[in-house]
Amino acid sequence: MLDAQGRHIHYLRLSITDRCNLRCVYCMPENGIPVFTHGDILRYEEYLRLCRLLVPLGIDSVRLTGGEPTVRQNWLDLIRGLKDIPGIHRIAMTSNGVLFAGNADAAKEAGLDAVNLSLDTLDAEDYRTITRMGHLQNPMDAVQASLDAGLQVKINAVPVRSLKKQGLLDLAGLARDRDICVRFIELMPLGFGRTVRPLPLPELRQWLEEAFGPMEKDPQPHGDGPAEYFRPAGFRGSIGFIAAVSHAFCDNCNRIRLTADGQLKLCLNHASDLDLRELLRNGADDRQITEALKDAIARKPREHEFANHAIQDPEKRAMSAIGG
Ligand code: SAM
Ligand code: SF4
Repeated sequence: MLDAQGRHIHYLRLSITDRCNLRCVYCMPENGIPVFTHGDILRYEEYLRLCRLLVPLGIDSVRLTGGEPTVRQNWLDLIRGLKDIPGIHRIAMTSNGVLFAGNADAAKEAGLDAVNLSLDTLDAEDYRTITRMGHLQNPMDAVQASLDAGLQVKINAVPVRSLKKQGLLDLAGLARDRDICVRFIELMPLGFGRTVRPLPLPELRQWLEEAFGPMEKDPQPHGDGPAEYFRPAGFRGSIGFIAAVSHAFCDNCNRIRLTADGQLKLCLNHASDLDLRELLRNGADDRQITEALKDAIARKPREHEFANHAIQDPEKRAMSAIGG
């Protein structure tokens, strides 16, 4: 469906938990944050009912996220359920890769098309520091297992100033011999992201060009996101940049978010939500939920306004509670 700005909204980011088995410094504090109770979060059949109602409104692509989606029990069942909904053409997932390698084949079989694995550096020590508890081998295994399973693979990295240059170059170098996109995502000043010093993308890009030579623009679209892709000479895969803050692409925004506890989120940086859990659990019928969804999507904010400190309804939740 089109929102009030005429943007075609067709992509849903569905967070299925706010729990996580890592503590990335830009996302969560060391001791975690108070998490939703079992009763707070929606059951899989509740997500599926909402997805079924969203398809006639134009949603055709769903990404599971979290927290860490693989820590929720039986997440493969949710993928199977989504696969059974006519009109959903693409199912993807964003994961930190800690538990993914052993599930890659089953996820593909269940209907998963693509996985974005979050991995900020190939320097094992820096990886441990930035995730506070991770072992680099886990996401590395996840990358290989996902490729072997036939999933489309992207790597999401958030470059921050404290990371060593070589670890970032090595990370980008993964795309040299593999058919993957390594994407660098500008740190967003949201939640704990405000506590970390970003590495500006133009500086990183200069490092990459010094190491790999000039990068040709890769015109091929790679999914539903706003990344710009480039391919250094001799690379099989590509390198992407997502300048979500410095080059807002709100004019082309195509997404809505559903948090694990059933709040429809219209924009990353605005807190205003639609409480779908209340509607679902208070007996609203399909028509009532559809009307509420249409009204909400129509009033999707025009832009994220990260630079506006006087924004009326700033988002205060941690990224792990929103889904990224
Ligand atoms: N746990 C999963 C993971 O890390 O892939 C899924 C959820 S995580 C919130 C989704 C994405 O958000 C990750 O790629 C993570 O790097 C990114 N992210 C978290 N905090 C961020 C911030 N402040 N700025 C930019 N990206 C952020
Ligand atoms: Fe967990 Fe993902 Fe947040 Fe890292 S970015 S703490 S893996 S939810």
